[in-house]
Amino acid sequence: MAKLYFHYATMNAGKTTMLLQASYNYHERGMRTMLFVAGHYRKGDSGLISSRIGLEAEAEMFRDGDDLFARVADHHEHTTVHCVFVDEAQFLEEEQIWQLARIADRLNIPVMCYGLRTDFQGKLFSGSRALLAIADDLREVRTICRCGRKATMVVRLGPDGKVARQGEQVAIGKDVYVSLCRRHWEEEMGRAAPDDFIGFTQA
Ligand SMILES: [Zn+2]
Repeated sequence: MAKLYFHYATMNAGKTTMLLQASYNYHERGMRTMLFVAGHYRKGDSGLISSRIGLEAEAEMFRDGDDLFARVADHHEHTTVHCVFVDEAQFLEEEQIWQLARIADRLNIPVMCYGLRTDFQGKLFSGSRALLAIADDLREVRTICRCGRKATMVVRLGPDGKVARQGEQVAIGKDVYVSLCRRHWEEEMGRAAPDDFIGFTQA
């Protein structure tokens, strides 16, 4: 049986590179893939996915209310689809996660989702919540904090270079995201003072 996968990580962990590489591997073997990316914050009709190391591919965009099962089933009817890839999967709606599950369960096509687990305030995105709940296979894409520990959180730096502690879940524009370990995230968010550990010896 085909599975629904969720590869999750913080920002800048190389998720898109992994997606494009995995899709390319299918093409190399003469198989076809269908790529989706969130259209919520994109201008125009181009769903180009590009990674920081220069790989890119054209993708279809998904928006709220879209029926992804219907779109893949229609396409699959005249051109066999061997794997479905979804970038920015955190923006999917809960119902759309169930549609992706149906693509795996009823069309027997594997679905590989890539996305962020939490936002800059440490809260789950809606799509990520549903994927964590029902995906068959959860895989963490690792990246590291400035201290060398595994980064599981992300902070947002505004145009002034300061860490945003409040605001919209997604900011468009010149904001920069930095991946941090949970300890340094709490310090940057002002929730814990630096070096305030009690009962631990500082390394
Ligand atoms: Zn750290």
